[in-house]
Amino acid sequence: MTMKTTDLRNLNIAIVGAGYAGAAAAKALSLLGATVNVYEQAGRTREVGAGIGLRPNTMDRFRQWGIRDAIAAVSSPSDYFEILTATGDPIMKDSWPEIEVYGPTHLIHRGDFIEALLGVLPEGMVHLGHRLESIEDRGATSVLSFANGTGVEADLVIGADGIRSVVRQQLFSDRPPVFSGEHAYRAVIPAAAAQGLVVDDNLRMYIGHGTKVYFLPLRHRGQVSFDITVLNPDGTWAPQVTKEDLLARVEGFDPRIVQITRDLDMDTVNIRAVYDIDPVDVWHSDSAVLVGDAAHSMLHHQGQGANSAILDAGALADALEQADTVKEALALYQSVRKPVTDELQRISRQGWSEGEVNDVFPGQKPASQQAVAGRSVPEHAEA
Ligand SMILES: Cc1cc2nc3c(=O)[nH]c(=O)nc-3n(C[C@H](O)[C@H](O)[C@H](O)COP(=O)(O)OP(=O)(O)OC[C@H]3O[C@@H](n4cnc5c(N)ncnc54)[C@H](O)[C@@H]3O)c2cc1C
Repeated sequence: MTMKTTDLRNLNIAIVGAGYAGAAAAKALSLLGATVNVYEQAGRTREVGAGIGLRPNTMDRFRQWGIRDAIAAVSSPSDYFEILTATGDPIMKDSWPEIEVYGPTHLIHRGDFIEALLGVLPEGMVHLGHRLESIEDRGATSVLSFANGTGVEADLVIGADGIRSVVRQQLFSDRPPVFSGEHAYRAVIPAAAAQGLVVDDNLRMYIGHGTKVYFLPLRHRGQVSFDITVLNPDGTWAPQVTKEDLLARVEGFDPRIVQITRDLDMDTVNIRAVYDIDPVDVWHSDSAVLVGDAAHSMLHHQGQGANSAILDAGALADALEQADTVKEALALYQSVRKPVTDELQRISRQGWSEGEVNDVFPGQKPASQQAVAGRSVPEHAEA
């Protein structure tokens, strides 16, 4: 027997964090009929200026939740991605996995994405200005205490509080995030300022000299997300870097990429040291569970972090519908999602130099070895 509709309706759920994972979980679980409240530390929701790709299977979850149109309205469809050398020689080109089943990937601005997700939640569900300070697991319920002096008790607490999750650290793992030795520099610029390098609606990555340059077109905005990932040993969370530092990292790249970098307004560039976490052995107790980066923060080289957060929310809702009890549902959710994200965490840590593309995308021949250059159809990747 599975959990009855009445049991689900009586379930009182508290979600910590209103990022992609928290917002998606709120949508999916409120559709089950549960009472859902989301507690977000920030006084207002915000996201960095950058683009991401929402994969075909992620878009399919949105369809199931009845919000695909709301997301599609603020994004542009893309059929494939391409990897090139620093000077623009093709290395590989691949259509998005499962595009034949679920349709194209949608490229979206992070700010538009969080706004659209929060916009489909019922009024009053998200409580801003609630920074979780501590969580106490009492078995059948968990109790949250916030820095503003308030507290709540819930049948199920969902830790969607990101890479530095308090829920994870207090209940499941006190291991700190791991520095990758890389920085990510991200900006959104007018497509017209991209030196003619935005030729269509698809994602392109130029790689070489330890640097990766991503162009993610946001056609509906007339913009392109221009991201540079570089090697840098400074693990300061928000490090200080100059235009000269950026230019040094794109030396040897196509002169148009160098020019775009030279033209950047440094005040609009988001600068971050890049961290992930080691896999966490257990994601849940009987009344608390991790989703998104809190559970499995990964490096961005496969472009799967935000996508995984959405798929977690879907899998958690499925598990609650299928299992007899909350406890069983949480175990089922972990058994479905953890093997997938463990593997993504692992491959996202792999190097990405020109010679390594083959290891990161197994089965994919470099373009130079393909009988017919151009469109080919094997497995995954993204920014
Ligand atoms: C450089 C870079 C590029 C990336 N590119 C891509 C990409 O192309 N595609 C992709 O799919 N993914 C990408 N990612 C990964 C993606 O950004 C993350 O996986 C995603 O944001 C995780 O969402 P989340 O909701 O789990 O966590 P977050 O987005 O971190 O949200 C956590 C939320 O919890 C709140 N919070 C934290 N602590 C507390 C607390 N104590 N109390 C209350 N609230 C709290 C935070 O304020 C925040 O709103 C990239 C990441 C980086 C760093």
